[in-house]
Parts: sequence; structure tokens; C-alpha cells
Amino acid sequence: MTAKKLSVSEDLDGQSFRQAVSLFATGIGVISSEDEDGNIHGATVNSFTSISLEPPTIMVSLKPGKMHSILAQNGCFGVSILGENHQDYSAYFSRRDFNDAPPPEFTKRHAYKTLADAIAWFECRVDKMVDVNDHTLFIAKVTACGRSEPGSQAPLLFFASKYHHNPSPIA
Ligand code: FAD
Repeated sequence: MTAKKLSVSEDLDGQSFRQAVSLFATGIGVISSEDEDGNIHGATVNSFTSISLEPPTIMVSLKPGKMHSILAQNGCFGVSILGENHQDYSAYFSRRDFNDAPPPEFTKRHAYKTLADAIAWFECRVDKMVDVNDHTLFIAKVTACGRSEPGSQAPLLFFASKYHHNPSPIA
């Protein structure tokens, strides 16, 4: 089957790229780290990717902002994978639709704080930072991780710039 051609590559504009790349469905994570005053700061991401197994390594792509500055400075962070009931968390940490909701609860499992009811969590130390155009890739070693019990809530998905809820819980 041939994909329908929706735009011409020579005239590629940001909008066409955004629309096409939004059809790559992802989960949603919240990056968390402590600022210089010891306050926890979070940012919603869907660029979280597993990079290698030996050693366990992940990557997240961040544009300049507070989280970018914190990670560049302290080199450590948590990643919390959101479940289908966590759409408010995604909005909260992307500052979209912020509606005076109380901040979600974080907990320290080992060294760094992650969301208390994440469906999976990772504690990470930055290994390399690679600037790519308007973003920076933070490549990081995973120092600890965990997951929720089988049968607990399904992941929150992001597809075509909208949230989606997977009917199947974690097997
Ligand atoms: P803040 O400091 O709160 O700044 C918000 C925005 O202002 C920045 O992202 C940037 O655009 C701009 N800004 C602030 N300071 C500067 C500066 N010094 N120079 C230039 N611009 C500046 N964002 C990502 O980077 N990567 C992702 O993978 C990603 N995935 C997302 C997925 C979803 C589903 C959603 C809803 C959002 C996603 N975002 C992603 C957006 C991100 O969650 C928000 O931009 C969030 O506010 C970033 O937090 P922050 O503390 O880093 O930024």
C-alpha cells in the first residue's frame, strides 16, 4: 500500500512536519528534577526513548526552558510514565489548561523524585548532551527503575496531537 502524498518535501514547512510526525503514537512521561532551591520541577515530554540495554540508557529531547537549565546544571532527573488517569498531570507539567489543581505527589524511591503513582519510573544521570537545532538531546544512564503491578492502569497515549486511552491494562 502506498502512503497518500499530503505535501511536497521541497516545500516542507513546520506545520506539515508537525502533522506528519504527530502520527507516530507515543506514551507520555514527566521529567522531574530539583532546582537550586531544592524545589521539585516537572515537564511533560513525549520524546522519551530507550536507547540501549547495556548499560540501560534513555534519551529525552528538550527545548530551552527551566527543565533544560536544571538538567544542564545538576545532571540528574526522574522520568515518570503516565497512566490513562493522568491526563491532568500531563496538562499540569506542560502548563496547558492549568486550572489551580493541586500539584501531583512525588516520592523518592532511591535517589531522585518521581511521581508517586507513575505506571513506570526511571532515575537517570545525564551522560551526554547533544545540541540539535532548537532542542538538546539529554542522553542518560538509568540508575534505578520500576513499574506498577500487572493489571494496573493502561498507559496514557499521545497521537495526532490528542490524548488517547488504551483499553488494555498492563499485562
Ligand atoms: P518553561 O521554563 O516553563 O518554559 C516554557 C516554554 O517557554 C519552553 O518550553 C520554551 O518554549 C519557552 N522558553 C522558556 N525559557 C526559554 C529560553 N531561555 N529560551 C528559549 N525558550 C524558552 N517539550 C520538550 O521540550 N520536549 C518534549 O518531548 C515535549 N513533549 C511534550 C509532550 C506533550 C504531550 C506535551 C503536552 C508537551 C510536551 N512538551 C515537550 C512541552 C513541555 O511540556 C512544556 O514546554 C513545558 O512547559 C516545559 O517545561 P520547562 O520547565 O522546561 O519550560
